Amino acid sequence: MEKQQTNTQPSHNRGTGSFHGVETNARILKITGWMTGIYFLIELGLGFYSGSVAVISDAFHTFSAVGGILIAFVANRISSREANANATYGFRRAEIVGALLNGVFLLLMALYVLYMGYMRLGADVELPTGIMLVAALGGLITEFIAFKLIYQEQKTNMNMKGAFWHIMQTFVGSILILIAAAVIALTGYTPIDAILGMAFGLVLLWASYKIIADAFNVFMQTVPKEVDIEQVKTDLLALPGVTAVRHMHAWVLTSDKNIFSAHLEIEKSENGQQILEMAERLLREKYQFYFSTLQLETSHTTSVADEINIIN
Ligand SMILES: [Zn+2]
Repeated sequence: MEKQQTNTQPSHNRGTGSFHGVETNARILKITGWMTGIYFLIELGLGFYSGSVAVISDAFHTFSAVGGILIAFVANRISSREANANATYGFRRAEIVGALLNGVFLLLMALYVLYMGYMRLGADVELPTGIMLVAALGGLITEFIAFKLIYQEQKTNMNMKGAFWHIMQTFVGSILILIAAAVIALTGYTPIDAILGMAFGLVLLWASYKIIADAFNVFMQTVPKEVDIEQVKTDLLALPGVTAVRHMHAWVLTSDKNIFSAHLEIEKSENGQQILEMAERLLREKYQFYFSTLQLETSHTTSVADEINIIN
């Protein structure tokens, strides 16, 4: 009746490939974390030395980035644990938990930035001179290096994206201090400080929403964004000998690791191995699934978990 078949991809070796990425990310987070942390202490020292409230508050802004990087780092370390008999997927999704926490953290920062901007609208602005200028420039350099280090990795890794946006918000914060100072010095238009701050608060709000939504979708096991499940079905049905595709499931284990499973109804069980190999190759090469499980059957047991079968 129903024959269970699973595939183990040739590229799926422990300790290579994806694992390398986890270690690279850990190193990047460690470097950016230390750099940002040391800069926070310097900025805080400058703030207390000069007594500038603006410098002290920017130092705590920097500290929030350290917190964001730390969350990403801890999540990364947990995610590197191998699968075992109690956790058959390992702890890969710790990265998604990290992304979700950082998304919420960023959302709070966005609200804070918006609130601060609003509060500063009518208020006197402390024009950056001397120490404040040094602090902003120092921040700009530190955050630019961190930004460069993390930029490439954040494109494909949700956890790194969370950390990236924390660096981004302090980086842009430093730029805005300098731009606002220049505009005020040249035109005397003081509301520019609050306006720029609030505009960036909105960008941050959008970024945090994206991170939270992406992480939430992983937990809801929605179909990976880049996968057209109807097209997968069409392609599987086009394989010679496949007569029906049922119980298709495609989900994200963690960033860049998509999983697929389905029941394939075939004409004759003798062709099973050949069909299985073609299907696996299709899923791996055309759709980049990290792992797939296919059940081959010559007849399907009906009304099994129908509410999670999209094809009926
Ligand atoms: Zn079935």
